[in-house]
Amino acid sequence: MTTDPSTYDTVVAERLHAVHERIARAGGSGVTVLPVTKSFPVEACWAAYHAGGAAVGENYAQEVVAKLGAERLSSERLPFEVHFIGQLQTNKVRMLAPIVSLFGAVDRLSQVRELAKRVPGARILVQVQAPGSPGKAGCPIAEVPALIESATSAGLMADGLMAVGPTEGGPEAARPLFRSVRALATQLGLATCSMGMSDDLEIAVQEGSTQVRIGTALFGRRPHPETLVR
Ligand SMILES: *Cc1c(COP(=O)(O)O)cnc(C)c1O
Repeated sequence: MTTDPSTYDTVVAERLHAVHERIARAGGSGVTVLPVTKSFPVEACWAAYHAGGAAVGENYAQEVVAKLGAERLSSERLPFEVHFIGQLQTNKVRMLAPIVSLFGAVDRLSQVRELAKRVPGARILVQVQAPGSPGKAGCPIAEVPALIESATSAGLMADGLMAVGPTEGGPEAARPLFRSVRALATQLGLATCSMGMSDDLEIAVQEGSTQVRIGTALFGRRPHPETLVR
């Protein structure tokens, strides 16, 4: 960070306030904001925490360890949770286990098995795949109840569902997915429905999101991926 830390904290706090205003204008109440700090330095995590954030979202295992692993050790525990919202490779579970409080993008049985083995009782969200996107991240919606069932049987705590809107078609394109994810969460009695990002949070809130995951609107555009340590 080239900016004065206190100034940076203030900017992030103001942006978080603006996000809460957007949520309120969309009719949301009790919707939490998960600040997504992937590809930003650790100062972004602290700014989110100082602004009242109880958790941050991260996507890349190497980055999580490089950024938060040492701090976790030196301070015994971080005062905020780290939620892993990227695609979870089973061979990374072990390195993430000491740092991550919730695995927020589980979409297959192999991950459930590995988590049950390495992080007994882990909290998870199952990611629901956007329809018509085979090969994209997420569990096909028809298979979600069975995956939740497997996770629960394996002793994991399935807090709820998570979804990422389609990349094409603008914010409105996410509405049908968000609506079916909300309906399924209700049907399965799951508390958390994590949907909505910087560009489509209004749609998500209107469709019953309980948590929006916000990166760009809080921290600005992410640095180019090639420059990052993964
Ligand atoms: C990066 C990311 C976000 C945040 O996206 P923004 O558009 O920057 O708000 C949310 N969820 C997931 C899964 C992400 O990978």
